[in-house]
Amino acid sequence: MQSDTGTVAVGPPAAPAHSGPPDRGLAMHAFIEALYPLCRSITGEGLRSTLQMIGDRIPLRIHEVPSGTRVFDWTVPKEWNIRDAYIRNARGERVVDFARSNLHVVGYSVPVRARMSLAELRAHLYTIPEHPDWVPYRTSYFKETWGFCLSENQARALGEGMYDVAIDATLEDGSLSYGELCIPGTSQDEVLVSCHVCHPSLCNDNLSGIAVATSLALAVLAQPRRYSYRFLFLPATIGAITWLALNEELLSRIRHGLVLACVGDAGHATYKRSRRGNAEIDRAVACALRDAGARYELEEFVPFGYDERQYCSPAFDLPVGCLMRTPHGRYPEYHTSADDPAFVRPEALAASLDTCLDTFTILEKNRRYLNTHPRCEPQLGRRGLYRAVADQKDGGLVEKALLWVLNLSDGRHTLLDVAERSGVAFATIAGAAEVLAAHGLLVETPAGGG
Ligand code: ZN
Repeated sequence: MQSDTGTVAVGPPAAPAHSGPPDRGLAMHAFIEALYPLCRSITGEGLRSTLQMIGDRIPLRIHEVPSGTRVFDWTVPKEWNIRDAYIRNARGERVVDFARSNLHVVGYSVPVRARMSLAELRAHLYTIPEHPDWVPYRTSYFKETWGFCLSENQARALGEGMYDVAIDATLEDGSLSYGELCIPGTSQDEVLVSCHVCHPSLCNDNLSGIAVATSLALAVLAQPRRYSYRFLFLPATIGAITWLALNEELLSRIRHGLVLACVGDAGHATYKRSRRGNAEIDRAVACALRDAGARYELEEFVPFGYDERQYCSPAFDLPVGCLMRTPHGRYPEYHTSADDPAFVRPEALAASLDTCLDTFTILEKNRRYLNTHPRCEPQLGRRGLYRAVADQKDGGLVEKALLWVLNLSDGRHTLLDVAERSGVAFATIAGAAEVLAAHGLLVETPAGGG
């Protein structure tokens, strides 16, 4: 019988495995600034360059799906590329210039070269009157048209007269690009991480998800793991639909999934549950946020938002939720030029990354155990467990964790069940289970976690 537990770690865990250097947030922010100037869209060279820059950091595989490919009820569109665009006044000055901001052109605008009056031009101009300095973000993917976005102040300054407008763009057969990284674990069961990569110079909406997903992939690559992890960097909607249509046979492997979007603003964390509402991922994220102790909000699934809509469509109903800070549409900077590098905060990016890592730790460690001495409490003092507890800073909490784990380890409850029901942090519960198992008081049930 082991009487000295000095070699076994009990309770409040050592520093979490992800406690990386404190400049992680700054590194993610620097990546956002590097990606910011690129003119991304749902296809085209800006998207491809973005994937290549992600590929410089993680071993990403870039897929190209030809225009015209049928994907469920949709068709992969023609590829859009833009070189230049402007509105020029009679004096030859570019009063709106794509070179100054890629938001100035409505995404997927068809090429145009024309001279027109201000009245004619106005039908193609978009502004935000309530924020007169900001330029809106607009697209027209599935209707062939053209337009310019500009600040209300710029629009007001346009005098009567004739204007030359030019959009030097192409809309031709090409392909839709997306990036995929599969990190194998010991099990084929998968955790899916998905983010959209199709917005031009917008930071919280798309670049924050890209930066956090890239850092998350690096962290997963560096850690031992049970699950396999699949990271997808996709143009929103059409990219997820395309991936799902081309990979239907893989979907049964997906056990848990997270869409990452708007994860860099100064607001608190918001988690939108999967369509199932009580999937293990939903509970794991909620537990990670609870244990972290900062303010957060949980929301129910709704069939709009980001690509969780596709993953949670009725035929698939995958357990995929969406982690955000302030959800899209609930901050005025959303889809405007004010969603710029200053709007995303290094510390918010770091906190979002931590939420993901803590969630993965819960998924990795969540197991179901059987108490080998279920007739009354086993005598913990005889095994030196109380002494180990007494050495802990918060011995009372660890003792509680030991008793909770012993009581609920009936082969039906998982450690996540124990953490939820006891209110004790998952890490403390998992640490207690580890020490009890080391003393032969617990055995893992063959069914494993769940
Ligand atoms: Zn958006």
